[in-house]
Amino acid sequence: MAEMNDLLSHAAQQSYPASCLYVVATPIGNVADMTYRAHHVLSRVDCIACEDTRNTAHLLQQLGVVKPLIAAHQHNENEVAQKIIQRLMQGESVALVSDAGTPAISDPGARIVDAVRHAGFTVVPVPGASAVITALSASGLLNDQFHFAGFLPARAGPRDTVLKTLSRLTATLVFYEAPHRITDTVEALNTLFPSSRKMVLARELTKLFEEVHRCELGEATAWLSDNAHRQKGEYVILLEGATANQDADLLEAKRVLAILLESCSVKQAASLAAQLTGQKKNALYQLALEMHNGDEVNP
Ligand code: SAM
Repeated sequence: MAEMNDLLSHAAQQSYPASCLYVVATPIGNVADMTYRAHHVLSRVDCIACEDTRNTAHLLQQLGVVKPLIAAHQHNENEVAQKIIQRLMQGESVALVSDAGTPAISDPGARIVDAVRHAGFTVVPVPGASAVITALSASGLLNDQFHFAGFLPARAGPRDTVLKTLSRLTATLVFYEAPHRITDTVEALNTLFPSSRKMVLARELTKLFEEVHRCELGEATAWLSDNAHRQKGEYVILLEGATANQDADLLEAKRVLAILLESCSVKQAASLAAQLTGQKKNALYQLALEMHNGDEVNP
C-alpha cells in the first residue's frame, strides 16, 4: 500500500496545467491496466470527453471517479472540439478518452486534438494501452519497422486495392479487424500474399480468453476454424513484411508472365505461370491483369 501511495504521489508530481486537453489512454480489456497517471488525470480534470458515455461511466465507477461527461464520437468531433475549446478558454481542463486504448488510434480524437492545437491550447498525452503495441510486443516478429494499416475497407474491391499497395512493404503489417470479418480478411490476405509469410493473430488481448497465435499465413484459416470461439472477439493481425526471397519470386513471376502475355489471355497466362513457378494462381492473375492494363507497380 505504501508503494502504491508512492506511485500516486509520483503521478501528482508532474505539472498539470489548466486550460489543457489531456489525451488519456484507457485499458483495452483488463481494467487493472489503467495507469496511475491516467487515474490521477481523470480525477482532477473538470470534465471528460468520451466516445460512449455509458462505457466511460462504467470505467469511472470502477475507478471511483465522478465527472461530467461529453459525448465525442466520430459524427460530432468538430462540434465537440468547439465545446472543449470554450471550456479551455474559461480556464478548465478537459480529458479525452475513447472506449478502449489510445484515443485517435483507429478511434475518434484526431480532429479534436487538431482543433484544440489550432486554437493555441496545450495537448498533453497520458500514455497507456494500445492494441497495436500490445500485439507487436508479444509477436516475436524480428523487424524494427511496422506499418499500421488500421481497419481495412469493408468492401472486397477497395480492400484488395489497399492490400496490393501494401504487398511490397518490408515492414511488419498491422491490421485491426472486427470479429465478423476476421475469416474473410485472413482469406483475402492468403489470396494476395505468399502463404509462407509469418502471421500473428492476437485475440482478446488482456482479457480472459487472450490468445497470441503465431503461424504461417497459409495455416491461419485452419486455426480460425478449429474453434468456433476464434471467429469471435477482437483481433490484431500482424503479417510479416515482404522479404528478399519474395522479391525474387515476384521478379520471376513477372518475367514468366511477360513472356506468356505476349501470346495468351490474362487467365491462361496466370494459369500457366502458376504451373511453371509454383506460385498462387489468384495472385498471378492479379499481377497479370495489372501488367496487361499497364498499371502494375514496380518493386
Ligand atoms: N484505440 C484503440 C487502440 O489504441 O488500440 C483501438 C480502437 S479500434 C475502434 C478497436 C480495434 O482495436 C478492434 O477491432 C481490434 O482490432 C483492436 N483491439 C482493441 N482491443 C483489443 C483487444 N483487447 N484484443 C485484440 N484487439 C483489440
